[in-house]
Amino acid sequence: MVEARPVVRELPAYKPGRNPADLAREIGVDRAVKLASNEVAFPPLPAVVQAIAAAVAETNRYPDNGAVVLTAALAERYGVDPGQVATGCGAVTLCQELAQAYNDPGSSIAFAWRSFEMYPLLASVAGARAVRVPLVPGRPGGVPDTHDLDGLLAAIDETTRLAFVCNPNNPTGTAVRRAELERFLDAVPAQTLVVLDEAYREFVTDPDVPDGLELMRGRPNVAVLRTFSKAWGLAGLRVGYLIAEDPAVAEAVRKTHVPFSVSMLAQAAAVAALGSEDEVRARCAAVTAERERLTAALRDRGFDVADSQANFVWLPLGDDAAGLAAALEARAVITRPFAGEGVRVTVGSPEENDVLLAALDQVRDDARVP
Ligand SMILES: *Cc1c(COP(=O)(O)O)cnc(C)c1O
Repeated sequence: MVEARPVVRELPAYKPGRNPADLAREIGVDRAVKLASNEVAFPPLPAVVQAIAAAVAETNRYPDNGAVVLTAALAERYGVDPGQVATGCGAVTLCQELAQAYNDPGSSIAFAWRSFEMYPLLASVAGARAVRVPLVPGRPGGVPDTHDLDGLLAAIDETTRLAFVCNPNNPTGTAVRRAELERFLDAVPAQTLVVLDEAYREFVTDPDVPDGLELMRGRPNVAVLRTFSKAWGLAGLRVGYLIAEDPAVAEAVRKTHVPFSVSMLAQAAAVAALGSEDEVRARCAAVTAERERLTAALRDRGFDVADSQANFVWLPLGDDAAGLAAALEARAVITRPFAGEGVRVTVGSPEENDVLLAALDQVRDDARVP
């Protein structure tokens, strides 16, 4: 038998999320609500639909492997040189390309835990060590839900090629502030690349949560990851980007790029989305207003919800996490449980959030002993 590499055999098998249509059929309801993957609930932007429709006529051709038009649009939008930009088939692919570009076997990748699930997988596949730095309480007496940047700094050694800082953090929604992040970046050794994963940047409302692109200036070992999957509404098209202070970082990523992996439709859609930024901003404002309403409603129901700077909230339920998610699923609401830790709930449309709150009330009423 041909065997995969030992690290690959040990990787967990991919487990697909529940599909709302299947769930609705299974439990005999008209509609299930999916609040599991941090997508926005709005339909694709009109300009995006138009751009895709126009690009369809060209799909007998390969896409532009350099994504020249999209790269130029991103460079202009963010005030950087096109040489500082690399695009990818979703930000997850850029994470993989970073590990391929920087991690030899025996090197390490440091990150907070719990954070984005992709980080430990990257390390495994690259044959690198995953260095997990536990989260710390963001509020006095609270649950561990926030980056420990001093701990992360202490965990970085001469083998650490990459350090990820997910800000705001997935799945807890908490964010690190400017002063502490600046202090951290100033102290990280020059041979470690700090990747600020800002997949949820567009939902940040606290002015003290820094924009990674500003902090990056003058720091050649810092890069920022962003995506069109969340705020920009293109999750199904797969396109993300990296912007690095040092063009050599973007170039290293481009060298490990899977050829043609950013499709023609994705490139056209992303350019159109950038042209619709006002509409995207208005949508993000609606999402963050709902986030505050949902947070308050959950706190009223006794959940210990931290302030979120993303488009999801975290219910730190410990051992009750899997049970609550299953009970919600039985009531047609799909969330994202992390067994033994908590449940991540995406902020949906006002109607979807009302369905969630009603389902939570039902679960509570059903659990009450008469
Ligand atoms: C969703 C997400 C991404 C990117 O996702 P893509 O769809 O691959 O662009 C990156 N980082 C974090 C923390 C995310 O939650």
